[in-house]
Amino acid sequence: MPVSDFQVVIGLEVHAQLLTRSKIFCGCSTEFGGEPNSHVCPVCLGLPGVLPWLNQKVVEMAVRTGLALGCRIRDRSVFARKNYFYPDLPKGYQTSQYEAPICEGGEVEVTVGGAERRIRLTRIHMEEDAGKNVHDVSPDGASGVDLNRAGVPLLEIVSEPDLRSIDEAVEYLKTLRAILMYLGVNDGNLQEGSFRCDANVSVMRKGADRYGTRCEIKNMNSFRFLRQAVEYEVRRQVGLVEDGKQVVQETRLFDPDRGETRSMRSKEEAHDYRYFPEPDLPPVLVPPELVARVRAELPELPRARAARYQGDLGLSAYDAALLVSERAVAEFFDAALAAYGSGPEAAKRLANWMNGEVARLANERGEAPSAWKLTPARLAEILRLLDAQTIGGPGAKAVLEEVFATGAEPGEVVRAKGLAQVSDTGAIEAAVDAVLAASAAEVERYRAGNKKLMGFFVGQVMKATKGKGNPAVVNALLKKKLGE
Ligand code: ADP
Ligand code: MG
Ligand code: ZN
Repeated sequence: MPVSDFQVVIGLEVHAQLLTRSKIFCGCSTEFGGEPNSHVCPVCLGLPGVLPWLNQKVVEMAVRTGLALGCRIRDRSVFARKNYFYPDLPKGYQTSQYEAPICEGGEVEVTVGGAERRIRLTRIHMEEDAGKNVHDVSPDGASGVDLNRAGVPLLEIVSEPDLRSIDEAVEYLKTLRAILMYLGVNDGNLQEGSFRCDANVSVMRKGADRYGTRCEIKNMNSFRFLRQAVEYEVRRQVGLVEDGKQVVQETRLFDPDRGETRSMRSKEEAHDYRYFPEPDLPPVLVPPELVARVRAELPELPRARAARYQGDLGLSAYDAALLVSERAVAEFFDAALAAYGSGPEAAKRLANWMNGEVARLANERGEAPSAWKLTPARLAEILRLLDAQTIGGPGAKAVLEEVFATGAEPGEVVRAKGLAQVSDTGAIEAAVDAVLAASAAEVERYRAGNKKLMGFFVGQVMKATKGKGNPAVVNALLKKKLGE
């Protein structure tokens, strides 16, 4: 039985590191990196006799995220201890939330292959990150534990098993990541692990009325790995079912080198976490005033922004989606449009440049918008030079490339590189005359009806003017001389 006879079912658990300056239960820095164990104190080291105190910013960010995703916000939620032993967890438990998480319900709207899907959320809760085991840190091959990350605040965002394909899972993650970044609660960095996900995957025969047994896959720090891991897992599970075997509920680890998942622990031996309410922290109270204030401060989110770009500016769904996928890019576009003009024509022209050349250069250089030397004002200036026919299309691309690399003023680049277009009729006329004189045979064929040769003449004149001839002037002169 082929894979196509099976329905894939996926539920995702996302861990998003919150962009607070200090940790969730102490004042230590959350900065990434740093000398091992340099951002620690008795609280996040888990020494006896200390008391945690809750970072107010964590609560606000959880509420902001919950409101943006349409969750119910609990006015009273509680922390719980999740007990397990691991070297990177000196306390012997993780302070998390269990029975009464701060947010419940909600959804993420995603567009997959043109179709709109609503992926329901189960819950969002606050918790602390654990430390990190580091291997081979000394000559004798010993391992060490770095607790800089211990106590860094996380949101765990749990989806219902609503995802029905790998494409949907990837789109859900991308959408969620963009929203968190818009909200300023997460930096979206998969490599550094500040946005990471565990995928719960099961398969069932199409039309079945019960879900299959799921496996949870950990350790995917890129969208590509997620895709590979889920694809592998689906094939593995379908293979088992086809062979009349059972899928065992277990946690599996993705190995990027081999492109496969392998068993880490089965649910039978899995932990009974013995959750119980955290006695050292009082319940978290979220007063209605806090909810109202955070709601009033919510930024415009990607989908709303895309709708505005389509409705007010007349952009295509495709252009709008590209522009809003990153908040900094959308803000750059807004600022550049304000500097350049208004109305659908200006917006369309600007969007083309943003999604075309600017995106290409940014990709090529691997630069985030915050690092761009191109400013909205400079991009607007390049488009104005183009509109005024001071430079042509190829010239504009050259100017953009230079401004992107150096941050120079566009007008300066045009002067320094001699990119200004020749619109001076006299100079172009001389080139036209020379080209026509040298192409007597083509001129004859053109006059005899082969109008396609116009392209040839334009090309020759452009060559003669080193690409700087204003195409409109070139065309007009050629037509005149050829007697049209
Ligand atoms: P656990 O505590 O073991 O992680 P949860 O009930 O919290 O279990 O579920 C975790 C995730 O598993 C959720 O995202 C949920 O959507 C997903 N899930 C549950 N059942 C299935 C299934 N049959 N197939 C795929 N995903 C599932
Ligand atoms: Mg889980
Ligand atoms: Zn600390």
